[in-house]
Amino acid sequence: MLAAPNFIRAIVSLVYPPTCTICSASVGIGKYLCAECEAKVSRIVPPFCAKCSEPFDGAITTEFFCANCAHRKLYFDAAVSAYRSRGIARQVMLNFKYGRQIHLRHLVAGWLLAAFDDPRLRQRRFDAVVPVPLHPTRERERGFNQAALLAETVGGHAGVPVRPVLQRVRFTTTQTAFDRAERIQNLRHAFRLRGNADVRNLRVLLIDDVLTTGSTLSECARVLKENGANSVYAATAARA
Ligand SMILES: [Zn+2]
Ligand SMILES: [Zn+2]
Repeated sequence: MLAAPNFIRAIVSLVYPPTCTICSASVGIGKYLCAECEAKVSRIVPPFCAKCSEPFDGAITTEFFCANCAHRKLYFDAAVSAYRSRGIARQVMLNFKYGRQIHLRHLVAGWLLAAFDDPRLRQRRFDAVVPVPLHPTRERERGFNQAALLAETVGGHAGVPVRPVLQRVRFTTTQTAFDRAERIQNLRHAFRLRGNADVRNLRVLLIDDVLTTGSTLSECARVLKENGANSVYAATAARA
């Protein structure tokens, strides 16, 4: 029961007119944000880091890497986000993920698809779309894996099969309380390839809802590459 057919949505909207998910102003059918709130969602514009898309306030016209990426090994080839996970965008993502507002997947997936305007992804061919997995206990609590829902949309759009080849084997808690080094340590051996999955020579597109430090995506990319994946690009709906 994730996507109601359009005619049902239309009937429901006669009884419950659609409202902005943030400020409750009335909006058109199929809209989740009013124009005012939508205008506050911050789009990432160049210049930004070629590896992790961290924006830079200044004028750089050549390819560059941010200080974060220059000083550590990140295993993905590039992680692309078109939006910042701040203010309204952050609130929408939290409501989607923790507030059981699964209908917001359409709005969040739209932000994710905007990442494909980026030249690092636009011209690229992929063999598999892989969602970042949740630990099974966490997925049971939440009822869904937000990355898997987003991966379905991306896979459908790009005509690339979704292959949930990774599994989360360690239950990592309170990642937010850790600094970057601790996060990397905490994630070590958190993921592995599923039993009979074969990713050899695949060009993988890894999907998650949000990039915070890049440690999770990097750790997933490491496992995929150690198992023979050819390349691993990542796309998220937003980044910190
Ligand atoms: Zn609004
Ligand atoms: Zn960077």
